Amino acid sequence: MSYDPEEDRRELEAVMARLPRRTPAEVFAEIEAGRRAAANAPWPEPSIIPMPEFPAFGVIRYPCPLGCDWYHQEAPGLDAFGPFVVAAPGGPHAVSAALTASANERAEVYRQRVERALVDHYEAAHPGR
Ligand SMILES: [Zn+2]
Repeated sequence: MSYDPEEDRRELEAVMARLPRRTPAEVFAEIEAGRRAAANAPWPEPSIIPMPEFPAFGVIRYPCPLGCDWYHQEAPGLDAFGPFVVAAPGGPHAVSAALTASANERAEVYRQRVERALVDHYEAAHPGR
């Protein structure tokens, strides 16, 4: 038995033939709908968190926006991944929703911790700024 690229090509063409055909107008309508949804999406909540630096693998560093040598450092990979609750009777959608809720909760805790460190630094090193 040897590898036959022609067989792969025939198989791919058979798969492509089964896919639904869309007209250019349908594709354009889908792109337009996506563009409108993006334009109408709410702005993300403003944050004081500066652009991070990545000095080493798994390390995220938030430098002082005023340029002094201070920084706040995080290692998110070391955060404990706590238990998450799946509502009975469960199922893939419930597990997905629970994972999303858990991730959002951890992201919010992370954001608040970084913002708190920045605010504390401003009050200590740059009062009145
Ligand atoms: Zn500073």
